[in-house]
Amino acid sequence: MGYELNAILMDAHCHLHEYGEDEIKSIMDLNIYVVAVSDDYKSSIRTIEISRKYGLVIPAVGLHPWNVDHNCKNEVANIEGLLSVDKSIRILGEVGLDKKFKPYTIQLQDAVFRRFIEMAREKGLALNIHAANAWADVLDILYRNDISLAILHWYTGPLDLVKEIMDRGYYITVNQAITIQQKYRDIIRIAPLDIILVESDAPYRYRGLVFHPKEILGIYKYIAELKSMSLDEVEKSIVENSYRFLRALKVL
Ligand SMILES: [Zn+2]
Repeated sequence: MGYELNAILMDAHCHLHEYGEDEIKSIMDLNIYVVAVSDDYKSSIRTIEISRKYGLVIPAVGLHPWNVDHNCKNEVANIEGLLSVDKSIRILGEVGLDKKFKPYTIQLQDAVFRRFIEMAREKGLALNIHAANAWADVLDILYRNDISLAILHWYTGPLDLVKEIMDRGYYITVNQAITIQQKYRDIIRIAPLDIILVESDAPYRYRGLVFHPKEILGIYKYIAELKSMSLDEVEKSIVENSYRFLRALKVL
């Protein structure tokens, strides 16, 4: 296929902007593509800055559903402004809906998410999505708006939506929580290998786990065990998925 396996290892969802210069440099030494998501306008600017310095960083700009409030209209407009200034931005994220941790702002979240969907449609962008307890809602919005490229980050939704995700050609990500989160394990056991990408969601912490991009190399083993497949087969498949995603994004 004309690419080196190592170079197509990809962390599909990382908050790189939260790290200092030295740590970013050491993450870059891993020689993997990093889809760097943002949480708000300020972190979007920082993410773009990092991507200008490091060729393997793919910047995503957006407003995390946790940061949506009554005063975020300007925030969204400013993030949209970044898209006109920097045409190399191909992904919006982390965006979405959260009914689990922020149910009381769901209406505002919905309005903001629909604005991001419009931007994605207008400019042909991909989406990197957070949808805690709102998976069906998010999928419905994606379908209705003909969004063709989307990553459903840390998918822990209903098992019966996995087929729909596959039929639409969307991706789900696996992170270190696969080692301990039963619901996640059940999903990954049945999910077709060709919709799976790996992510760090670093530097998030979850039940004693410290998420970090260097740990994504270890995730393949858990996927292989769960699916009773060889490590080789799992690695190959996920590398191919990453390649397909980057091609669709026109990064490769
Ligand atoms: Zn995240």
